[in-house]
Amino acid sequence: MKKNPIESPSVIERRDLIKGVAMSPVAAQFAASALINPAAAAKAVTEVSAPYPPARSGLRGQHEGSFEAAHMARDGRFDGKVSARESGEHYDLVIVGSGISGLCAAYFYRKALGDDSKILILDNHDDFGGHAKRNEFYYNGKTYLSYGGTMSVESPFPYSYAATALLEDLGIKPESYERYDLTGTVYNGLSNSVFFDSEHFLQDRIVAGYGEKPWAEFFGEAPLTNAVRADLTRLHTDKKDYLPGMSPTEKAAFLKRISLKSFLIEYAGMLEESLPFFAGMGFRNNKRVDTCPAFEALRLPVFDGMAVAEPPRAQSVHFHFPDGNASIARLLVNQLVPGVFDKHHDQESIVSAKANYGALDQAQNHLRIRLNSMAVRVEHLGDFDDIGEKAVRTVYVQDGETVSVTSANVVLACFNNIIPFIVPDLPQDQREALGKASKVPMQYTNVLIRNRRAWDKLGIQRIQAPNGYHTWATLDFPMKIGEYRSSISPDDPVVVHMVRNPNSPGLPRREQHRLGRIEMLTTPFEEIELKIRDQLQRMLGAGGFDQERDILAITVNRWPHGYAYTPDTLSDPDLPYSMQPHVIGRRIFGRIAIANADAGAAAYTNVSIDQANRAIQEILISRGLT
Ligand SMILES: Cc1cc2nc3c(=O)[nH]c(=O)nc-3n(C[C@H](O)[C@H](O)[C@H](O)COP(=O)(O)OP(=O)(O)OC[C@H]3O[C@@H](n4cnc5c(N)ncnc54)[C@H](O)[C@@H]3O)c2cc1C
Repeated sequence: MKKNPIESPSVIERRDLIKGVAMSPVAAQFAASALINPAAAAKAVTEVSAPYPPARSGLRGQHEGSFEAAHMARDGRFDGKVSARESGEHYDLVIVGSGISGLCAAYFYRKALGDDSKILILDNHDDFGGHAKRNEFYYNGKTYLSYGGTMSVESPFPYSYAATALLEDLGIKPESYERYDLTGTVYNGLSNSVFFDSEHFLQDRIVAGYGEKPWAEFFGEAPLTNAVRADLTRLHTDKKDYLPGMSPTEKAAFLKRISLKSFLIEYAGMLEESLPFFAGMGFRNNKRVDTCPAFEALRLPVFDGMAVAEPPRAQSVHFHFPDGNASIARLLVNQLVPGVFDKHHDQESIVSAKANYGALDQAQNHLRIRLNSMAVRVEHLGDFDDIGEKAVRTVYVQDGETVSVTSANVVLACFNNIIPFIVPDLPQDQREALGKASKVPMQYTNVLIRNRRAWDKLGIQRIQAPNGYHTWATLDFPMKIGEYRSSISPDDPVVVHMVRNPNSPGLPRREQHRLGRIEMLTTPFEEIELKIRDQLQRMLGAGGFDQERDILAITVNRWPHGYAYTPDTLSDPDLPYSMQPHVIGRRIFGRIAIANADAGAAAYTNVSIDQANRAIQEILISRGLT
């Protein structure tokens, strides 16, 4: 097995998934406790080093080869003067990061200053789009798409004028989603379910009808002690006011300052033994029962009788592509870089369009995207007041070599934590503010399975696994868009999408994120694979699922730096807007502006777009170019 898929992109490797790790102590220890037989599992295949980046499987997201230089920068290996080969390349704008925000920064810059602007986008990954990541599987001549990160156009905020106009310009019509969505027909009759595991409940059992059946019936089927069953049923049906004597506004203020866990135990009188039922639930920014302010969990039935003052919900838009928002990144690239796609694409045709990665970084193009290139130093080449066109030097690492380019401006559309390490000249208060961001570690796993018969037999479409390695598993969105067709028949292969958020209950939120990141970067694919096989077998075995026979391929998208951090009322001080870390952190610094979702402190595509727009406006204003 090649360790780094980038090393030999031309080799399509069909490898045994488990072979070669059976002797590793970690894997052996885990396998001993798992239901599966690693030797038997070795028949399944996965393509780890396919030439086309979206088709690579195994460990994706922050893949091997994409982060090591950043960690060297963090550890001081590029401190002081960084020597680099001078490429001689000069640009109007260098953008660090080819996620939605970086691509949008290029888009807005060109809108303002014309398509002739010379722009270079650097990204450390072997694919563009950042979190908006496309996963492709091929099986028996058919392509199966899924999303390795950003799932949908959606947000709790309404899209701004700039973000709406950008979607329109790309030809995306969120209101047309119904036309493509086959969920109602394909998964008709399949329900939400919960997997109760024997470690936390009386035995392994999947119970269908979560949120759909009467609660007494649902908990009646669950493997619970009588006390826990009565407790959970009461919490879901009582409609009781647990804070009598408080006004709706006082209740809201109180619930913002108490965790959901403390509220359930101390005010709703929940038994400690019932807590595992709530353990896997993810709330905004993937906060958990111990880190989520109770106020952010008002959707739970336990609050039904509480009459808490709530702000009106903002209306947003929703649109899902089979590869998630990777299609937005692809539509942007289609518009920005000639030759990557064969023609001008719209929201339908982009889904099946093949990208020519060789055309991303062509000298004859005004806009170039350079992948596998980690920026490790961005510095001004003179005093701010007396600076020429070659104002900023950017050093990046590609294939182990440090290379420099110059530009009139730079936009950092990467993420906040890394910025102080690559721009050491930033003022101290800004460095500290940027350092307060703490992205949420997240893992989106896609598993291609032979068919969905087990799901149909169990009558389920989605599984919450409160204490599972992955806490969520769902059959992928069935869609018919352009030439792309998801599977319709229960006998055909389908992608199962699974979500994991490593956390360490009881610790402060940022510390949980830090430990989660370490766990993600130190867990080998083989160990994750065993856990996936074990979990799917336990959850679906009653429906006839056989992991050895039914798993065809696995792609694990690990995002140690996942969702942008949103401050909350439990973990963070209540600061005026201008003093919030993300506002201080995103200040323009000479010729260097800052975009990306962290700069808006919210993990949403529209925020990435808006922050790109703001960063470009700041450049234009600071240089008198408006
Ligand atoms: C698993 C997951 C699911 C999500 N689902 C949704 C969703 O459904 N809807 C939604 O609106 N939002 C979702 N989001 C939020 C998502 O982060 C934003 O919508 C958006 O895609 C972020 O774009 P960005 O460009 O700001 O950051 P990113 O996508 O993180 O892009 C930044 C890029 O810069 C690169 N980079 C960093 N440092 C350097 C460097 N020094 N040199 C070179 N390159 C560098 C990064 O590796 C990355 O490729 C999700 C996020 C995750 C992690």
